[in-house]
Amino acid sequence: MGVFCATNAMSLNGSGTLATTWSTLLERLTKRTDLHILTTPWWIGDLPIARNLRSSPAWCPACYVEWKEQGLPIYQPLLWMLQVVTTCPNHKRRLVERCPSCQGKQAVIASHKAHPGECTKCALWLGSEVHTSLEQTLDDELINWQEWVVSVLKELRTASLSSGVLSWKAFFTSLARGMERQKGYSQLARLTGIDRRSLYQWVWGTVTPSLELILKFCYVCDTTPMQIMANQWASLEQAIRDDPALRPSPYDRSPWQRVDIERCLGFLQSMLDGREQVLSVRQAAMRLKCAARILRLHFPLECEQVTQMYHEYRKQQKEKYVESVCEEVRNATVTLHTQGISPTRRCVAALLKDPDRIRMPEARRTWRDVRQGLGFTL
Ligand SMILES: [Zn+2]
Ligand SMILES: [Zn+2]
Repeated sequence: MGVFCATNAMSLNGSGTLATTWSTLLERLTKRTDLHILTTPWWIGDLPIARNLRSSPAWCPACYVEWKEQGLPIYQPLLWMLQVVTTCPNHKRRLVERCPSCQGKQAVIASHKAHPGECTKCALWLGSEVHTSLEQTLDDELINWQEWVVSVLKELRTASLSSGVLSWKAFFTSLARGMERQKGYSQLARLTGIDRRSLYQWVWGTVTPSLELILKFCYVCDTTPMQIMANQWASLEQAIRDDPALRPSPYDRSPWQRVDIERCLGFLQSMLDGREQVLSVRQAAMRLKCAARILRLHFPLECEQVTQMYHEYRKQQKEKYVESVCEEVRNATVTLHTQGISPTRRCVAALLKDPDRIRMPEARRTWRDVRQGLGFTL
């Protein structure tokens, strides 16, 4: 059971047979008949779950605190399971994916030892009101985008509650008609940064885009999936008529057509695979000649991972540097001593590549330790 929980349980919220079996079983056990609503299809319809659900839960630490204070049960809202949702709509905070103490990802079903809201690995309470230093403040564009995402998801949920699991086929069929009427493929490709071939593949049904990409497409076109499904093309047609250069893009002011989205993703992935030297998102954006905001909006997950890798890389670099300075101090101290010269701080500093290095606390500590080891008293 333990292994199953940690690895396979994500599919419980999904649309596979496993999810159906489990909810049927749980319904029988708990005598509740509304549990099937807790499974993801009711939110995202028949889109493939693998690319739309997180591989491990994310949470809002401020929500946990609030619920605890109000004596409410602590749980994982399904909304947080969707990759496209990256912030808490109530607290405007980025959802967290790793325990701040043990850095562990969370198991979907906690073992009986962990209480809800506690890390499933180290049992730390995951609620917190204060922002950690690693949390970036969210810019307005990200907040607007996420608010829009949540409102659209609620709309989709309401629709699926009243008329059953959504089929996205209706969306793509209607989209095809909306675009065909105005020969809109090229124009929308330019506007959204999604290439024309991909748009054709969407409507032909040869490629199913992720929920995130569908929503970004709608967001930029200033329409919603429900509007498209209802053959309401007014916003879409407006987007097709508009000159993209004149249209203020919700993502960034720089013209869309200059940003090669696939190339950006390729670059981020090559850093994550270790094929490229890891850079900060800002540096990567400079290299790609686009705004960091564009990278973060199109690829929030990848950017977050790159940022984590970059922090880790910088930490390692710093540790290596500190270690090399300590080594230098150690050698200098011992050398002076073997030459019969008293290894005073000034003499040791004079032997270093940069005398100022002796001011580093670690360097001073090493100097004191080595002197003590050589029999000097402080
Ligand atoms: Zn929250
Ligand atoms: Zn932990």
